[in-house]
Amino acid sequence: MLTDYHVHLRPDEVADTPAEQFFTAANAERYRETAADRGIAELGVAEHVYRFTQALDVWDHEFWRHCARDDLDDYCAFVREETDLRLGIEADFVPGREDRMANLLEAREWDYVVGSVHFLGDRAVDYDKYDVWTSGESPDRVWKRYFEWLGEAARCGLFDILAHPDLVKVWGKERPRPDGDLRRYYERAMDGIAESRIAVEVSTAGLRKPVGELYPAPAFLEMCVEAGCPIALSSDAHTPDQLGAGYDEALEALERVGVTELSVFERRQRRTEPIGAT
Ligand SMILES: [Zn+2]
Ligand SMILES: [Zn+2]
Repeated sequence: MLTDYHVHLRPDEVADTPAEQFFTAANAERYRETAADRGIAELGVAEHVYRFTQALDVWDHEFWRHCARDDLDDYCAFVREETDLRLGIEADFVPGREDRMANLLEAREWDYVVGSVHFLGDRAVDYDKYDVWTSGESPDRVWKRYFEWLGEAARCGLFDILAHPDLVKVWGKERPRPDGDLRRYYERAMDGIAESRIAVEVSTAGLRKPVGELYPAPAFLEMCVEAGCPIALSSDAHTPDQLGAGYDEALEALERVGVTELSVFERRQRRTEPIGAT
């Protein structure tokens, strides 16, 4: 089986992507058709939690206030009633707000919850409007903090899938990067990851970003697999054509570390299935 679980039904530009235009059976069908063409049988959506008004009960960052326009329960009802897609959500790890996020998540019946670290405090690792790299912190400090938070995100137990695990590298050469063997940073996340046995996402999204690499880097993937973590495969598509993009490269990376099965989710129960297009 092949999966694509970390999928958005619309691009990130809030003003141009109203729910009524994108949360439609016809749009879901476009994704389903592309998935079928690419041999991806297990397809689910995971919209950003901060695009829903209920997320403001969790965190009131300016970016979230800008994005929070839609109703979370309407989204859930749409996916369940008008599509045959798995119902997921991409939820941010916001330290200190775990209880509030738990309340939001537990009130709804997801197939899976994708957990992400996008922000380190008020600043983002992947969004230049709130760029963490303008804070003057050294690359060493930014990377340490990112991977510490990633480990905490795994450990907190709110999430089924740990998204784009080394997202901090997203800008590639456009931002500073620590020198040498990066495993010293990955190590900082590994206790939390190993303890939680969370499904670690192999994401092809990095291939279309400035870094031009899969998340996670091969050495980090190897550490996760050695720790016994199952793998979830996704593209983080924001349009139908991005579904399953770069999967050949992802499957090669998985083969190199001996991964032969992928995580499959239903109502937050995880099982594994052998890798293979259908
Ligand atoms: Zn993300
Ligand atoms: Zn995403």
